Amino acid sequence: MSDSSKVDVLAVGAHPDDVEITCGGTVRKLIENGHKVAILDLTKGEKGSRGTLAIRKREAESAAEVLGIARRINLGLPDAFVENNRENRLKLVVLLRKLRPQLLIIPHSRQRHPDHRRSSELLYDSCHLSGLEKIKTGDLKPHRPFKILYSTSFLEVEPSFMVDITSQMDIKLRAVACYESQFHPDPKKPVVYPPANDIFDFIKTDAHRFGYKTGVQYCEPFVQNELFLIDDPLTLPVRSI
Ligand SMILES: [Zn+2]
Repeated sequence: MSDSSKVDVLAVGAHPDDVEITCGGTVRKLIENGHKVAILDLTKGEKGSRGTLAIRKREAESAAEVLGIARRINLGLPDAFVENNRENRLKLVVLLRKLRPQLLIIPHSRQRHPDHRRSSELLYDSCHLSGLEKIKTGDLKPHRPFKILYSTSFLEVEPSFMVDITSQMDIKLRAVACYESQFHPDPKKPVVYPPANDIFDFIKTDAHRFGYKTGVQYCEPFVQNELFLIDDPLTLPVRSI
């Protein structure tokens, strides 16, 4: 990969469709704000109850096109068996050093799906290792993202802040709708979580719940582990009383 493979933002999900559901609006907003954004899917979702590998690949490509992302990469780890091990950490170190993102959006560790939970720790650990000079990866120089944000949409986790995605909601829903094999109601197929025929309701209701609390229509929640530092408290958004 050349310098042109560098990105400002890398949004990561365990499975194709995770990024769209949890932070697709924010990804789109970052692009509209002029940042170069890539999506990394750690697995191809081959153990999912619905769809085939070929269908899921096509759907992920269509969703990437709808969002307008610069690149979509698949690490090809085994679906349902994502492990935070040395081999996978080193794969991610190489990728992080090639892409050199300043912002990484990754799944929060408190998750129902084991792949999501383990992906969170795998990605955090890889970011740390990627900054260590004595871990050699050929010509690739050490790199750590400046900021790691955790997407939290699947479970009740106290968010640190919200991103207003009111203007991006339509595109987010269109991107999620690309995953027709996953979210098209089919009574003959096993139930997935969130329930397939409720996914759009789930996304809108959840985003609206957070929007209601912050004075806009739709929001996506995020956690950051650091404290906020600001210059001028008078510029803080969201009315108190
Ligand atoms: Zn997932």
